[in-house]
Amino acid sequence: MKLGLSRVHFPVTTLGPGRRLGIWLQGCSIRCPGCISADTWRVAEQPVDVADLVASIAPWLAQCDGVTVSGGEPFDQPQALATLLGRIRQLSSVDILAYSGHPYEKLQGFLAAWPGLIDALISDPFEFHRPQTKRLRGSDNQRLHLLTERGRERFAGYDEQPAGPADRQLDVMLDDEGVVWLAGIPRRGDMQRLQDLLRAQGHFSITSEAPVAVCKTPR
Ligand code: SF4
Repeated sequence: MKLGLSRVHFPVTTLGPGRRLGIWLQGCSIRCPGCISADTWRVAEQPVDVADLVASIAPWLAQCDGVTVSGGEPFDQPQALATLLGRIRQLSSVDILAYSGHPYEKLQGFLAAWPGLIDALISDPFEFHRPQTKRLRGSDNQRLHLLTERGRERFAGYDEQPAGPADRQLDVMLDDEGVVWLAGIPRRGDMQRLQDLLRAQGHFSITSEAPVAVCKTPR
């Protein structure tokens, strides 16, 4: 089974409790305006074999407190996603959090076909113009679903408390090509603030943010 993969990283500390294994899938058909992961939209040119991916992440699975799957849109590849999560389940009992830009109601077929694969799910598209006060979410329309007992144990507090300073932190990663990569939930304008800071220090940077349409009132 082949899977379009963007990247894998361990540890990720900003997308759920503990030190987590982050898996970002490549390809997103939803394309929310203002998405900060526009680099993950195009379909993967060289999908990876799920068995190879699982073999490569097995050492991290043995150490991590949980797994977070994001993208891209993970559910654009439902069979590959189910295969990957099923293999992870065989190797580890840690919690699995998955993100989707689809509404929960559209994912119920997947969740019914593969019960128990996902412990906690954050559904619904990112909406740039909505407030952002909730933990783990880029916009407040996004819903957290606690799907298993393990999910309820691990993520209940994430719906009860508003986002605090700890939720505003980002993990910074540097890949083999020198590209800086951020994981976590940035506040509105954080990417622009980062670019301005770098520019002020003489650096040039580009980000993968998708543009947001601005409505102007006619004069
Ligand atoms: S926020 Fe998620 S669902 Fe929306 S365009 Fe970005 S990757 Fe796709």
